[in-house]
Amino acid sequence: MKIVALAGGVGGAKLAHGLAQILPPENLTIIVNTGDDFEYLGLKISPDLDTVCYTLAGLANPLTGWGRANETWQTFENIKKLGGQTWFQLGDRDLGTHLERTYRLKKGAPLSNITRDFCKAWGVEHPILPMTDDPVYTMVNTREQGELPFQEYFVHQRCEPTVSGFRFAGVEKARPAKGVLEAINNADAVVICPSNPWVSIDPIITVAGIKSACETKVVVAISPIIGGKAVKGPAAKMYRELGIQPSALAVAKHYEGLLDAFIFDQVDEVLKDEIALLDIKTLITNSIMKNSDERKRLAKDVLKFVHTLF
Ligand code: GDP
Repeated sequence: MKIVALAGGVGGAKLAHGLAQILPPENLTIIVNTGDDFEYLGLKISPDLDTVCYTLAGLANPLTGWGRANETWQTFENIKKLGGQTWFQLGDRDLGTHLERTYRLKKGAPLSNITRDFCKAWGVEHPILPMTDDPVYTMVNTREQGELPFQEYFVHQRCEPTVSGFRFAGVEKARPAKGVLEAINNADAVVICPSNPWVSIDPIITVAGIKSACETKVVVAISPIIGGKAVKGPAAKMYRELGIQPSALAVAKHYEGLLDAFIFDQVDEVLKDEIALLDIKTLITNSIMKNSDERKRLAKDVLKFVHTLF
């Protein structure tokens, strides 16, 4: 069975890694959010793409959920000493990725080609595609400060401002990256990873053609909200600030119309009847992924469930 996974960074990378442990490269393509991308110190940074690539390459830092393992920080320390910007931390090894990507982008290479080449160099065999090669910037509308670029909100201001909405600047002109629509059209099912629905998955499905391609497939999502909370990051806070009680039910409703099926955690079993009212199939399981084995276990549950949907 051929699967396309839609992923953001942390939660998306974990499940993508689980799926990649089971499915051969020809049966799994991972499409990644690039709405978080930004320019910092003159460098083009693609945080979600890097998290997914590093995770599948076995290079990711397991403690932070971003950046690389066995990192050193000499460049960062030097920038700090020179009085430069340090709100976004870039380790020495990681920096090499951004330098090389920026250089290739400036020479005109599309992000999808660069990602393919980097993956090859890192020994990642599963195709990892940016949602688009065009610039799309997630903007966070806040009550206190108006519109903020995503990383300004997320990292610099530690998600503290109150969210009132989102805008994906440039998305009207963006086209899916080479291979994205082909991968979806050739897939049997689309798996929406347990990523932040507002700022990781929505940007992907807002790129022209991606949502409608997904709609022709069996689509299953896994809830990133467990027991009313996000495992990591601002997803639950965003729901609350937008006037929606954060829950697995809220996530299922978020994707209403797109989903054939929904997977949520056993701690949320009480929501089963309400979720079933959305006329989708459900699977209740342990959806926490604390290590590589747990990623694989959840991926196995997902794939077994997907098989029952045909
Ligand atoms: P980001 O772009 O780095 O924020 O990454 P994602 O959007 O892919 O991931 C953030 C989401 O992953 C959060 O909403 C978390 O609740 C969710 N998440 C992280 N780890 C897990 C996990 O082990 N299980 C589930 N179900 N969700 C998780």
